[in-house]
Amino acid sequence: MSTATQKGKQVGRMVRPLKIRKGDLVEVIAGKDRGKRGKVVQTFPRENRVLVDGVNLVVRHQKRTPTSRATPQTQTGRVTKPAPLHVSKVMLVCPRCNQRTRIATSFTQDGKRVRTCKKCKEYIDSV
Ligand SMILES: [Zn+2]
Repeated sequence: MSTATQKGKQVGRMVRPLKIRKGDLVEVIAGKDRGKRGKVVQTFPRENRVLVDGVNLVVRHQKRTPTSRATPQTQTGRVTKPAPLHVSKVMLVCPRCNQRTRIATSFTQDGKRVRTCKKCKEYIDSV
């Protein structure tokens, strides 16, 4: 198909920072958890995924594995934990107007880059 992927090298695949960051409040807009809100616990820019607290819970059937005794498993059986979901499935909730919104990037007078709410035009990040 494409010649750029020969020799196994990932040419031209840039990892861009996500617009959503750790600590942001987001709302899920697709999938079974639609409408749920939660805080971003972790971001995965490479996979374009975010881990949201209490959202996209999956039940893992954790088995006892014969690993070393130095690291005993703390949890076995049914473990419920959140799984990362794609950034396109969540939208940032603006801390100012409390609506889910798209993000614009703008600069302050001293050249600092800040994220701006497209709805109320307020800064999302503290300046
Ligand atoms: Zn806003």
